[in-house]
Amino acid sequence: APLLGATEIRRLADELGVRPTKTLGQNFVIDGNTIRRIVAAAHIDPGETVLEVGPGLGSLTLGLLDAARHVVAVEIDPVLAARLPETIARFRPGKAASCDVVLADALRVTELPAEPSALVANLPYNVAVPVVLHLLARFPALRHGLVMVQDEVADRLAAPPGSKVYGVPSVKAAWYGTMRKAGVIGMNVFWPAPKIASGLVAFERHEPPATTASREEVFAVIDAAFAQRRKTLRAALAGWAGGAIHAEDALLRAGIDPTARGEVLDIHGFARIAESKQLPLA
Ligand code: SAM
Repeated sequence: APLLGATEIRRLADELGVRPTKTLGQNFVIDGNTIRRIVAAAHIDPGETVLEVGPGLGSLTLGLLDAARHVVAVEIDPVLAARLPETIARFRPGKAASCDVVLADALRVTELPAEPSALVANLPYNVAVPVVLHLLARFPALRHGLVMVQDEVADRLAAPPGSKVYGVPSVKAAWYGTMRKAGVIGMNVFWPAPKIASGLVAFERHEPPATTASREEVFAVIDAAFAQRRKTLRAALAGWAGGAIHAEDALLRAGIDPTARGEVLDIHGFARIAESKQLPLA
């Protein structure tokens, strides 16, 4: 089935009087091959319900409707959300009933008309990481996904401990699943063209680390450790622990060298630190 190209996207935008805005990260894909590549890399089962964040003018939505049983599309821009059903009816006549359009902020959405098992999205770049983390936390049935983000953010999400770009997004994402870089996308497949390349990230959910600490407690350790990235864990976690002595104690009990830096620890290390703070002093 045909996908939207540059001509259709321009025409739809003209009809709606849409001027893409930077604040909402509105860069629309105008290339059918890119859509096919994203959909293929997402490995969608024909029976799945897919969550798409930011359907925009519908480029990716049409591709997803070819591959999935149902699509739930969450869009913050009321003009784009209102128009999407009509675009689907026009370009995928039998599929109008297969897509729920939800007018909402993906950073805050807590309920959806159907429970999605996959997240596939060309994300608004300025909020990509918080959107992914929020959705993984809020919708546990999301089992896998494929997102397009700034290339540099893709590298960060998929970074292993010890690598240069390993940081808060890498560790927090690893709480939920395994993130893998799945390709680079050039700038000229978008209208308007962004100034930087995009990257694809594929993820598979796994069980969270086995720990008695809550996710919030573990994430607090991660935030503290990376807020002062160049410091030793002993120093960086002093505020969190209520003093450097207490930080050192928690680290030693977690089996972690207090002079190490946070950038070498994986999610399990952070979970052990959070857990060891809960233990009574020996
Ligand atoms: N999926 C379309 C495509 O690939 O051509 C558009 C992708 S564009 C990069 C990002 C889309 O996300 C825009 O349609 C924008 O309006 C929408 N958006 C921005 N912030 C959002 C938010 N917080 N929640 C939901 N949608 C958002």
